[in-house]
Amino acid sequence: MCAFFDTPEPRPVPAGAYPLWDGALALVNRDLAATLPDQSPLRLLGLPAYDGGEHVYVGMANGEWQGNCLDPESAGDPLDALAAVADAAQETVVELLWRAWPLCGEHHLGMHAREDGGRLSWWCAGGTAPREPAHLRAAVGGGGGRGRAPPPPPPGGGGGRPRLPRPPPPQGPASGLTGASSRPLARDG
Ligand SMILES: [Zn+2]
Repeated sequence: MCAFFDTPEPRPVPAGAYPLWDGALALVNRDLAATLPDQSPLRLLGLPAYDGGEHVYVGMANGEWQGNCLDPESAGDPLDALAAVADAAQETVVELLWRAWPLCGEHHLGMHAREDGGRLSWWCAGGTAPREPAHLRAAVGGGGGRGRAPPPPPPGGGGGRPRLPRPPPPQGPASGLTGASSRPLARDG
């Protein structure tokens, strides 16, 4: 829990203070830029913790955030860092903008980050038809599901049942992914 009582002003966390969180947020901001181009990049905000440390949140450019602080232990592992930042970013965006984010471009459903094979991807719960199961949409940082779905994994080395090929999505957007902004986060003070 990250409850606080006297609410101090959150301070922008300087770049480099938490390198893995910085890198994770850069990836998530690519998804944000690709899907909600009017939004300014998210940033890390710090609030003093009761133990003298700092609670770090993923907030909007205006200093607002929603949800819990990042688990400090996640700052030491790239995948944990990305999972923590993606969840926190999603909560802030969803709660403050009142919209599902990111959306599956195929089903227009809000997706959730899930680890798969050592990387974090946005997963969609799928459509209502039996042939529309839950599916991986895009790697976190890969554009938030607006672009083409990633290619299916190569067939395994045998043994498994043959898999039916998925039908191509109808009229998928040609490219969708505008040049993802790789602007560095603004450094305030
Ligand atoms: Zn979907």
